[in-house]
Order: sequence, then structure tokens, then C-alpha cells
Amino acid sequence: METIIVHCGAGTLRDMGGRKAAVIDSVEAGYAVLERGGSALDAAIQATIILEDSPYSNAGRGSGLNLEGEVEMDASIMTDDLRCGAVACIKNIRNPIIVARYVMEETDHVILAGKGAQRFAKILGIKRYNPITARSKELYNKFLKKVKQGKGTQYFPHLPDYIKHYNADTVGAIAMDCKGRIAVTNSTAGIMLKLPGRVGDTPVFGAGLFADRAGGVSATGHGEGIIRLCLSKVAVDSMKTNTAQQSVSYAIRKAKKHKIRCGLIAIDRRGRIGSAHTVDAMPTAYITKGTLTYKE
Ligand code: ASP
Repeated sequence: METIIVHCGAGTLRDMGGRKAAVIDSVEAGYAVLERGGSALDAAIQATIILEDSPYSNAGRGSGLNLEGEVEMDASIMTDDLRCGAVACIKNIRNPIIVARYVMEETDHVILAGKGAQRFAKILGIKRYNPITARSKELYNKFLKKVKQGKGTQYFPHLPDYIKHYNADTVGAIAMDCKGRIAVTNSTAGIMLKLPGRVGDTPVFGAGLFADRAGGVSATGHGEGIIRLCLSKVAVDSMKTNTAQQSVSYAIRKAKKHKIRCGLIAIDRRGRIGSAHTVDAMPTAYITKGTLTYKE
């Protein structure tokens, strides 16, 4: 049964209009691929490209800047037959998810990082692109000002308290196609003002995403916390005997115990949807049995 779910990050209530429009456009585009008989992989990639192109997401165009004012992005894909590919800390590209797919399909590796990932993209003929927008630059300047005032932060205690205002607009998608195959994607520029070279959970299989015959899960939120708990794998393992919703709720209870700001979306083997988070909002849209639902 064709099913798809996407999210635009677990975080604050900022920019809800833009983020809602982005998840709805994305889920509709992904579902159109499934309706034409396309694969879960193509649907999840198409949905993610739309989210990366939205200026309201922290992925692709309009991504958050690191401490040195550069954009370093992470993206990943995994299918339920355990194939996977990711890029980490990649710069100057519009759609990191496309390169992640090529890592999976065209190389013997699972993750390419930094300059190596950029060189690989160049070999593929992917054009250079500066993802910085006026809005992302403005946010960077605003938060940098706070850093300079020397306050602490929830995610990075040595940085200022910008995180209250920070929207974790990372994106993720999970699709199930007419053959019952599942694909999961993630894409992000990570946490704004992160140290250069920092890799979050987004391209880490088992943490930021996981898929196997039981189902697929995509995570968003505080990457370091999500990695410590291997949160996506916890939820997928639970789907062997529980529904998608029961499984993400279980994993989110675990995250809450450890005070981790995060969210999860899921599709289980029977095409059932799950979503849960520990924060103010996680704009999420899904289409199941032909009906679109939007949730925060
Ligand atoms: N999980 C991402 C990271 O830590 C951030 C996010 O989901 O917003 O890089």
C-alpha cells in the first residue's frame, strides 16, 4: 500500500506557515511518484528534494551556518534491504540527498565526508551551489551576537542560549511503495553555529535513520543525544512486535528520560504511520490510503 510521511524538523513554533507549506508540497510530490508506480526510493528522494529547496528548512537552500559562517550539510538514505548511503560535512551543493543516493548506488562505501564528498559530486557533474540565503545569513548574525555575549546553550553548553530560538528545520521522509518496499531519507545542515567538521545523527545509520524488514524511522533533533541512544534503531527494533506509533512513542519516552530534544517519524511493515516528539512542534505531513494529514 502506497504510504508516505515527511517532517521539517523538531523544534520551535517559528515559521510554521512556511514549514507547513513545505511538508505538504513535499508529501504530495512524493506520493505522486508512488501513485505512478514509482519506487519508495524515488518517492522519498523526490519528497526530500522539495524540502531541501524550501528556504524554511535547514537543509539544502537556506541551510543554517556553522560557527565560521559556512554551510556544511549531512544527508542520508536507507532502504529496507539494508542498502544505504550518506554524505557528511558537504559544502556548496543544492541537494545533498542526490549525492547520498549516488554514494549508495555507485560506490562500495556507505558514507563520504567533506572534500571527498565534494569531489565525488563534481565527478558526477553536479554543479556548485551556494546554499546561503539572506534569511540564513540574518539568523546567523542574530545568533552569533548572542554567542559573543557569552551565554550557555542546551545543545552546546559552551555556546550561548540561541537554541530557544533555533528551529531544527532538518528534513526527513519515509515512503512505502506498491511492492511494500520502504525507503528513508534525511537531510540537514546540522545545528546552527556547530563547530566546523561536526557530524550529527543525520547521516549516522541506526541513530538518525534506520530501515529493515520491520519498518523505517527518521529522527530529528539534538544529534549528539540521538546518536548516544541509537534512537532510530531502538524504534525499528520495537516495530518487530509493535505498531509504528507504539514504537516511536516508546523511543521518545526513552529520549525524554535523557532530556533529549528530538522527534521521530516511522512507517511499519504494514504501512502504518507513527510520529512523536519531545519539543514544541514538528511539522509533519503524511498520505495514507490516499488521504493527506498534517500534524504539528
Ligand atoms: N539532528 C540534526 C543534527 O543534530 C539537527 C536537526 O534535526 O535539526 O545535526
